[in-house]
This record gives sequence, C-alpha cells and structure tokens, in this order.
Amino acid sequence: MEDLFRFGDELGPVKILHISMREVGLKAVVVVDNTACGPAIGGVRMAPDVSAEEAFRLARAMTLKNAAADLPHGGGKSVIFADPKMPPRDKEALIRAFACAIAGLSDYIPGPDMGTDELAMGWVKDEIGRAAGLPRELGGIPLDELGATGYGLAAAIDVASKAIKLELKGARVAIQGFGAVGKHTARFLAQKGCVLVACSDSRGTLISADGLDVSALITLKDSGKPVIDFPRGEKSDTDAIIDVPCDIWVPAARPDVLTRENAGRLKARIVAQGANIPCTTEAEAMLEARGVLVLPDFVVNAGGVICAAVEYHGGTESTAFATIEEKLRRNTALVIEQSRRSNTSMRQAAMALAIGRIRNAQRARRWR
Ligand code: NAD
Repeated sequence: MEDLFRFGDELGPVKILHISMREVGLKAVVVVDNTACGPAIGGVRMAPDVSAEEAFRLARAMTLKNAAADLPHGGGKSVIFADPKMPPRDKEALIRAFACAIAGLSDYIPGPDMGTDELAMGWVKDEIGRAAGLPRELGGIPLDELGATGYGLAAAIDVASKAIKLELKGARVAIQGFGAVGKHTARFLAQKGCVLVACSDSRGTLISADGLDVSALITLKDSGKPVIDFPRGEKSDTDAIIDVPCDIWVPAARPDVLTRENAGRLKARIVAQGANIPCTTEAEAMLEARGVLVLPDFVVNAGGVICAAVEYHGGTESTAFATIEEKLRRNTALVIEQSRRSNTSMRQAAMALAIGRIRNAQRARRWR
C-alpha cells in the first residue's frame, strides 16, 4: 500500500479519497489539499497515466493559485484513470459514477481539466448539485472562449510595465503558444497598444518586426490552421520564438520551455507566465539575475479560476471580468512590491503572499 501520508506538510492535504467502483470500471483519486480559505476548487483530469502523486502536486498548485488570487477557496484536484477518448456514453456513465462517489465530499468543488469539459461538469452538477466550469445554458461562463486567462495576463502585464517604466503603447510582444491563453493575451494587449512581433504554435513561429494583425491571426487559428500559414511575416521553426527581440515574452504552451540551456537566448524585459511552470527554477533565476521581471504562473494565469469561482457563486460574465481585473492588478502589484522590499525572487514573494493568506485564514478555522 502506497504511503499517502508522505505528501503531508503543514498546508495539507486534508483528505485523499481513493475511489474504486469495479462494476463501472471507475478508478479515481481526489486530493483535497487545503480548505482554510474555503471549499477546495480544482479540476477533474481524465487520463490513463495519471497518479496520486500528480493529483497531490496539482492540488497544491491550486491551493497556492487560489490563495494568491485571494479567492475564498482552497485547492484540490482529482484524477480519473481512463482514456478520455472513450465512447461518449461510457464517458458519461463514468463521470456520473465519479460524481456520485464524491457527493459527500462537500469541501471539494470539481471543475474541468485535461480530458473533461463543460458538458462533463454539467453531468456532475446534475448528479450532486455542485460543479464549476459549466455549460452556458446551466449558468456557466465559457472562460476559454471569452479569454478570461488572457484578460488577467494583460492586466498583470499592464501593472508590471508601469513598475519597470515600459510604455505599453508600441511595446513588442512575443507569444509562445497561440491557443486559448495565447491568442486572447495577444488580443487584450493589442487593445492596450502593444505590437505582436511574433507568435508560435506546435508547427512553427511567425515573426514580423513591424507587427502582426492579431484579429486576422485569430481567425486563421480558429479555422484550424497553424500560424505559419499566415500570408505575411517570416516563418521559422517552433524554437525560434525564444530568439525574437521583444519587450514582453509570454509562454502560453507547455511546461519547462525555458531551461538553463536556452534562457540566455531570451531578449525581453518581462516574462509573463501564461502556461503553468513554463520555466525551470534555474531558468527563472537566470532571467531574474539579468533584470528580467518574471511574473509567476500561479499569480498571473489565475484569470480562469477566478472566472470559475465567480460563476460558482452565481456571478455574470461582466462581474467575472471586473473581478479578474481587480484581483490581477492588486496581486501583481503586491508581489512586485514584496519582491523589491524583501529582495527576493518574484516566485518567493508570491509564495509568501499566498502562504500568508492561508495562515491568516487558518487562524479563523477550528481544524487547522
Ligand atoms: P491550448 O491547447 O488552447 O493552446 C496551446 C497552444 O500551444 C496551441 O496553439 C499549441 O499548438 C501550442 N503549442 C504546443 N506545443 C508548443 C510548443 N512546443 N511551442 C509552441 N507552441 C506550442 O491550451 P491553453 O488552454 O491555451 O493552455 C496553454 C497553457 O496555459 C497550458 O500550460 C495550460 O495548463 C495553461 N493554463 C491555461 C489556462 C486556461 O484558462 N486555459 C489557465 C491557466 C493556465
């Protein structure tokens, strides 16, 4: 038997639930990491190769993200061990069985993650009356369609640019990964006067020092084509995005894209982490040593979870966007200020902010 207590520290997890329902072929693990600030919110991931350890690490990331976002929610995560591409009827049966199994776990609010979507959350809500990230018809706010995370990133970049006296009008932006996060970040930054000088996807990099037409590029991507199919601009391989001279570099694709080996090539003043853990610890330290302002993932890509939390509490799309703007501006400013005052890295400052909030909340709770 795996020793699940090895994950434990002063923050959590408070509960780990193992689910095994042989008659429906359901195997799942739910980690409720910390509930000091409120019920844990976190996605349901469906994949054949997940693990309890992965669920714990993802749940902890949600604890920190939700606290850094100043949401009245703790962090949790679940993993269902199954192939998400199974026939839709089987998937519905499995998700409904999962929902029934977590019915009594009232301090965990599930949301969509890799392998699950809004419809799946609709089934969960139908079974147990609670879920975030619902279809629009059930009160959901479609965060990827609206660009909630990109909106928050653009607000954070606005605050960061003022801190380093970078004029956003005319600032050059390069975006790695032109998907739900990347393309909306480009759109909201263009509205602030920034110039998109490069963007990439899994097929290649598109570069134009004079600036790219963001709406035309979004139309192209939405039609299913790669950015290198754009009729204008220079085309290069995927890796070339790292070498493009720019003011703001936004990783919005995969983890660990900046490492000790390639971080020296980056020529930017701000790195705004749209993706989760896009830089290794060494890469982050190298960038900060060169004076690059690195905006940590769990602070600046929280727009999506803020949107989900507002939805869960019955708020509208406009409330969600106003809340994202307010929280992202405030929290980014606090982290920059704390990092400067204590002469620590931006990530250390963000961790101190999040953990401080959790500790304060714990003081008000009976079970710490
Ligand atoms: P997505 O699938 O919509 O887009 C990802 C994009 O990255 C695609 O265009 C893909 O072609 C591109 N890509 C893949 N590999 C690449 C590579 N090696 N180089 C360049 N581009 C590459 O995904 P998304 O929802 O935009 O999420 C992107 C990242 O942001 C993920 O790490 C995700 O975990 C994180 N994130 C997403 C949200 C959200 O609200 N969607 C919130 C927080 C964090």
